[in-house]
Amino acid sequence: MLSPIATSLSIVFVSLFFGTALIVAWRRFGVQFHAAFWALSFMFSAVGHGVRVFGVVWPEYQSVMAMLACQASIGSFALLAIGFRSRADLDHRLISLLWALSAVAIVVFWSGQPFEWRMASRMMTSAADALFVGIIVFLPRNPKGLSSPVRLALAFFGLYILSVGIAAWMARPNGEIAEASFILVLSLGTPTGMMATGILTLFILAADLAGELQKQAQYDYLSDLLNRRGFEERLASQRLASNETGFIVATDLDRFKSINDKLGHAAGDEVIRRFARHLQDAAGNHDLTGRMGGEEFALSLLPATGERRSSALSACAWACPLYPDIDVENPVTASFGVVRLKPEESFHQAYARADAALYASKGAGRNTTVADLDEAA
Ligand code: GH3
Ligand code: MG
Ligand code: MG
Repeated sequence: MLSPIATSLSIVFVSLFFGTALIVAWRRFGVQFHAAFWALSFMFSAVGHGVRVFGVVWPEYQSVMAMLACQASIGSFALLAIGFRSRADLDHRLISLLWALSAVAIVVFWSGQPFEWRMASRMMTSAADALFVGIIVFLPRNPKGLSSPVRLALAFFGLYILSVGIAAWMARPNGEIAEASFILVLSLGTPTGMMATGILTLFILAADLAGELQKQAQYDYLSDLLNRRGFEERLASQRLASNETGFIVATDLDRFKSINDKLGHAAGDEVIRRFARHLQDAAGNHDLTGRMGGEEFALSLLPATGERRSSALSACAWACPLYPDIDVENPVTASFGVVRLKPEESFHQAYARADAALYASKGAGRNTTVADLDEAA
């Protein structure tokens, strides 16, 4: 015979374990409020199942303890959903409202219906819990949605929680099933669901962290463009996926040292940021833009659009004063070198040619583009 105390106690331990792990993750991995919401969700669950134990051991408090357990249960699932929405940068006013409404409904029902409240509050709790799980399942797919297998697993969990509500109804006095059968349904799925949710939340935090680290390794902090490593890795995978080769552009700001010297390093940084944005706007969605170091940048332009774009770069020639507000008398300009990437050559070889073309344009007086496109494959 399964003991409700054993089930509740095991859920208390599992919840405390995951709650603590999520607090550690929250403290160690930066300010991720969703981890804090998830930690709180598991703490609510620990309290909820703890008061159930209290109610079984001290039957005179059973009614109020069961009411508190229902409150903790809806709180736990509401906080879980709030955490998921917070991770996806979505507001949680609707969840807070539903949480408040179900909390009030449980208290009202509990105080007005002393004999019937228990079964009803179990069903209301199941319905509210399943609703919160449903809100997670139907999160918008972007920007930080969940993968389909995770949605499916959560949908099963939501259906299981509904089945607890149905079992609670069937276990009513003189109902279709005995109280023990209801406890069985509760004991089978609740610890499993709890553990699965705990592992899922920790896994999501780990995956987000890994993604963040990968981004930091591939992107430049100042300009938000790819860094040299990210640029080379992305280009290599693009080249693996397609044999077509496009254009490599090397570019370097003209007389940048004088901007730093005259206006200070902060103004120099601002020029780098604006030039980076300028390059990104000029490039297409699938083109690559990277900061190769200092005030040197590279572009990889796809073949379909590259011809047009590299000629557009030449035509613009960046002769226009790029940032007149920074220094009216000496407008910021840049020099460009453009080459066609040959199928048989490495990126380093192509970049060396682009760099040579860039230095030819420096030699030609700067603020111009030298294109070395005759060596087309
Ligand atoms: P040229 O037209 O020949 O390219 O002249 P230049 O002055 O741009 O020459 P050079 O490439 O030698 O100078 C680059 C300067 O860029 C030197 C360095 O102090 C500055 N620099 C490199 N990285 C940064 C950065 O992140 N921020 C700022 N503000 N300056 C940087
Ligand atoms: Mg320069
Ligand atoms: Mg330079």
